[in-house]
Amino acid sequence: MAMTEGTGPAAPVMGKGSMTVRVVERPKRTFATQIFLIEVWKGLGVTFRHLFVNLARHALRALGITGQPGAVTIQYPEDPAVLGKRARTRHRLLKREDGAPRCTACLLCETICPAKCIRITAENAPDAMVEKRAKTFDIDLGMCIFCGYCAEACPVDAIHMDANEVEISSYSRKDMIWNMAELLGDAPKVPGGTA
Ligand code: SF4
Ligand code: SF4
Repeated sequence: MAMTEGTGPAAPVMGKGSMTVRVVERPKRTFATQIFLIEVWKGLGVTFRHLFVNLARHALRALGITGQPGAVTIQYPEDPAVLGKRARTRHRLLKREDGAPRCTACLLCETICPAKCIRITAENAPDAMVEKRAKTFDIDLGMCIFCGYCAEACPVDAIHMDANEVEISSYSRKDMIWNMAELLGDAPKVPGGTA
């Protein structure tokens, strides 16, 4: 593959197999930059500018003059956390149209889980076409790293991470374990309710 070099804007690719590489030169450090004093004051200038602008916005909002928040940070927990559309939140297990859990206890999610926080026991399903189903299905959210591998690996789309719940802390490790009924939404999460 042929490559051409230049210091200006990247030129369009010319010809099959050729590529333009833009060389970016490292800026030279002057004496003023080297002693850092001016750079430190420049940085402090930016910091104080944001401080006073945000302070003014907070004051105007507190006085009811504007509704504009003083900073881009969220005043949590007074303001709820803003979640992205694709945020991975608490897991939930899905059901089929007949109300039975979709999970076929294939153990793919348990196998792929890097935190080893999924525990499933299987049993025979009454439906011969399904063969197996989960007898128990526990996820220890205290160990989960919310990587999403389990939801990606599931071949029957039985597990999603879209419950939009991120406040799942607890006073005991045991309460961080969610069982099948809780993940299916059939039972509320009760502190101390998981064996
Ligand atoms: S999100 Fe990742 S760490 Fe959490 S249960 Fe799924 S696979 Fe395991
Ligand atoms: S990958 Fe899906 S079907 Fe397989 S055990 Fe996990 S949730 Fe159940």
